[in-house]
Amino acid sequence: MDRIKGLICRECSREYPAEDLHVCEFCFGPLEVNYNYDAIKQSISHQSLRDGPPSMWRYKDLLPVTDKQIVGENSGFTPLIKAENLGRELGLNNLYLKNDSVNHPTLSFKDRVVSVALTRAKEMGFDTVACASTGNLGNAVAALAAEAGFRCFIFIPGDLEVGKVVGSQIYEPTLVSVDGSYDDVNRLCSEIANEVPWAFVNINIRPYYSEGSKTLAYETAEQMGWTAPDQVVVPIGSGSLLTKIYKGFQELQMLGLIPEAKVKTNGAQAEGCSPVATAFREGRDFIKPVRPETIAKSIAIGNPADGYYAIRVATETGGVIESVTDDELVEGMLTLGRTEGIFTETAGGVTVAVLKKLVEQGKIAPDDRTVAYITGNGLKTQEAIMGAVKSPIKIKPQFSDFKDQVKI
Ligand SMILES: *Cc1c(COP(=O)(O)O)cnc(C)c1O
Repeated sequence: MDRIKGLICRECSREYPAEDLHVCEFCFGPLEVNYNYDAIKQSISHQSLRDGPPSMWRYKDLLPVTDKQIVGENSGFTPLIKAENLGRELGLNNLYLKNDSVNHPTLSFKDRVVSVALTRAKEMGFDTVACASTGNLGNAVAALAAEAGFRCFIFIPGDLEVGKVVGSQIYEPTLVSVDGSYDDVNRLCSEIANEVPWAFVNINIRPYYSEGSKTLAYETAEQMGWTAPDQVVVPIGSGSLLTKIYKGFQELQMLGLIPEAKVKTNGAQAEGCSPVATAFREGRDFIKPVRPETIAKSIAIGNPADGYYAIRVATETGGVIESVTDDELVEGMLTLGRTEGIFTETAGGVTVAVLKKLVEQGKIAPDDRTVAYITGNGLKTQEAIMGAVKSPIKIKPQFSDFKDQVKI
């Protein structure tokens, strides 16, 4: 029995073959992968998963690829950290951090989605991959394209952080910096995708790409002894990550790999680009696009493709979607560094700051088993904290000067 039936429209359930399609021809709804869970159930067990590789690819049965040849076979299985210090500071007794800031090879959760996308692109016969990126996606596509021998085109908005730009350049893709916002870049790429036979990972092969995010839920459950947490906090850009983490926990329940659970799924945005949080607050399920104005560039998407679904997931699970200011997100980055020794990027600062806010609002209770998803690395967004960290004490190479200047 085949594990993958094809693609299916999320709105009207019309079925399609497993090709490079992403929109329903009839209702324009987004397509997603249609699995044969009965077949999967027969091949998957706690033991079979434990016997798999120490990467996200131990969950291959639940990913939309068939090839033996994996691109990015070392991505995933990042640490789940019991955050005692941050928990104490926030008043949480069971706080965990899923630390994708140390993911392989490019230090963000995007390594997961791209690993799936490029493996699928290869088995579909593409020789060129591309993406519209807020930074991390470009880094992951460029790196894994280098590994797999694809031609590669990366499109980014013109105002990205140096670390994100250099983090793509090193792999020598064709890097195109567009004078406009991410939403402008994405619109342009949709146009280009209609004209060229390339795999745009987040456009024409998006149904496969987005499935990679489910592995964050699988790993979390396995690392918590095959249970789901009570609450999760997830940053929202397009909203895909949040919906797929939810889907991951749902699938594990359906397959009997974890007990029934209702994971309150909370979303985090930066106030300067918070179309999903605003819609949630106003009780709408449709998004009013905004023009981004925040230092959290990796999640600065003014017209998020999966915003509607993110709102639905948060609402159905009893979660909330909140936003924080740029000052609060910088404070979040500093707090995480000071308490847990983890240097996250701006999106991680948003997650930590929203976590704090939800605790203060009483939305997360002290004993709730809570997982915050730290999705990217702070070395790529150093601009954000340059003005906020303490300067070094400058001394001459003499003991007397050391004694005078440094309090010991
Ligand atoms: C892309 C990204 C996100 C958001 O993911 P979406 O699926 O677009 O919601 C969060 N954090 C980081 C670090 C990212 O690069």
